[in-house]
Amino acid sequence: MKEIDNIKYEKITYQNYQTRIDKLFQKENLLKLGLNKKTLAKTEYGYNLDCITIGNGNNDLFIVAGTHGSEIISIDFVTQLIEKIDNLNNFDPNIFKIYIIPIQNPEGFDISSSVFNNININNYEKSSYEYYLRYRTDNLIINTIKDLNLFLNNLINNKNIVSTNELLYYLKHYIKTNKKIKILESNNAMPKIKIFNKLLLELPTTNSYKELKIKLLNICDITISKLNPNNLNDSFLKLFLLELKKYFNTKELWETIENNNQIRLYQEMFAKCKIKNLQSSLLEKDINKIYKLYKHPNGSQIGHDSTGIGINLNANNKHNPGILSTKTKSIIWGLGPKSNIQNYTPGPIGTATYDPNNFKYAKENKALYKLIENSYQKGTYLMTLLYHGTGGLIYYKPYQDMMNDNTYNKYYDYNKTLANIYSRKTNYTILEESGKTGYGDLLRRTYPGVLLIELSKMGGNPIGPYGDHNNIYITINDNLAAINDIFKYLKKEIKAEKKYSK
Ligand SMILES: [Zn+2]
Repeated sequence: MKEIDNIKYEKITYQNYQTRIDKLFQKENLLKLGLNKKTLAKTEYGYNLDCITIGNGNNDLFIVAGTHGSEIISIDFVTQLIEKIDNLNNFDPNIFKIYIIPIQNPEGFDISSSVFNNININNYEKSSYEYYLRYRTDNLIINTIKDLNLFLNNLINNKNIVSTNELLYYLKHYIKTNKKIKILESNNAMPKIKIFNKLLLELPTTNSYKELKIKLLNICDITISKLNPNNLNDSFLKLFLLELKKYFNTKELWETIENNNQIRLYQEMFAKCKIKNLQSSLLEKDINKIYKLYKHPNGSQIGHDSTGIGINLNANNKHNPGILSTKTKSIIWGLGPKSNIQNYTPGPIGTATYDPNNFKYAKENKALYKLIENSYQKGTYLMTLLYHGTGGLIYYKPYQDMMNDNTYNKYYDYNKTLANIYSRKTNYTILEESGKTGYGDLLRRTYPGVLLIELSKMGGNPIGPYGDHNNIYITINDNLAAINDIFKYLKKEIKAEKKYSK
C-alpha cells in the first residue's frame, strides 16, 4: 500500500458530511473507478439513506457505518476509505464492487452532531480530549461501584465473619486499598463525594431519591427479618445492617446525591446544549418531546445512538430481550457511563422495536438486508463489514445454536480467516463470544463473512477519539491497511473459484 499522508482530521457533523461526499464526486480518479451514489430508502423523517458504490466487478463487498448515531469515527473512516481507495493497491475495480452505506442512521447522527456542533473547531482537539477524560472517569466510577457491590454481597453472604467490627474493618480496608477508588479520589475531575454515595448512585431503579431511600431501607429490613436471632453470625450481620440503615438515613448523604443531579461528568460538558437546527424540524420537535417525557439527563443528547423514532438499529432483532422490557414498561438502565439513561425506551440508547406488541424491522435495516440479499441471490456476494465506534474489537463468530452444523462450520472458518487478516494490521482484539440478540448477529448467521468492527481504541463516542489527532491518523491508516489485505486474500479466493453466495 502506498504511504498515506493526507488523512483528514476534521470535525464532521451531519451538515458538513454532505460537503465531504460532494467533493468525492469531483475527483476524476474516483469517477474513473465507477463511483456512484443512490438512495436506498427514505427514513421515517425523510432523510436519505445513501449507498455509494465503487468498482464494476462481479464480486460484492458491503460496508456499513453510522448504525449508531453517535459513532462518527465510523462515518469518518468509510468516507476517507472511498477517497483513498486508489491507494489500496489490492483493490481492482474490474474484480470488485464495493457498496458503502456511510450513515445507516442519518437521523441519529443529525441529533448527536447538532450537540457537539457547539464546539469551536479551533478547540476541537482540546475539548474532545477533555470529553475523553471525563468519559473515562465515568467509566471508572461505574466499575468501582460494581466491584464494591460484589464485595458487599460477598461480605453479607460470608458466614465466617465473626463480628460487626470485623465487617466494618473489611469494608474500610477495602475502600482504603482498592486501586480504582484510589485513582478516583486522586482525580481532580471527581466531585468530592464519598464512595458510598457512588454506590447508591448505581441503584437508581426509581425516579426519585425519596423512593430510592425507601427501597434501600426496605432491603435492609427484609434481610434482617430473614435472619435467625439464635445464630451468632446472623446476629452480627443484623448489627451491621442496622449500621447501614443509619447511614442510609443520614441527611447529608441524600443532599450530596441530589446535588450531583445524576448527570455524568461527560454529560456535564453539554448539559446546556439543545438539539437544534436539524434537517427535519418535525424530528427536532418530536425528539425534544421524547427527552422530556423519559427524563433523559441533560447533555445525554450527544450520545444519541437510536433513530428519530427511538429504535436502536443493532437491537432491532426479534430475539432482543429489550422487547419484553418495553412491553412490561420495566425500568432498565444503560451500561457503563450510560447507567443513568433508560434503556429500551425511545431516547439516546433506544428500543428494539417501535411497537413491542408488533415487532417490525426498521426501514434502515430492511434496506440493508434487501441490498445484501439481492447480491447473495445473484451469486456475487463476498462479505460484509459493519463499522461501529470504539473499542478496537472484532466480532466474527456466528451463533451456533441457531444454525445447522454445515453452515456454521463454513461461516466460522471463513469469518475466522477474515478476522485474523483484519487484526494483523489493526491489532484489534478478536472476540470469541457470539450473540443472537443484535441485528449484526442476525446478519452473521444469515450470510458468510460478516464482521463487526469496533474502531478507535480511544473511547468516548462521539468526540472522545478526536481528543488526539494521532489516534484518528492511526485508526484510519491501520483500517485502510487491513482492508487492503482483505482484498489481497479475496482476490486469491476468487481466482480459486471459491463462492460465498447462494
Ligand atoms: Zn455501535
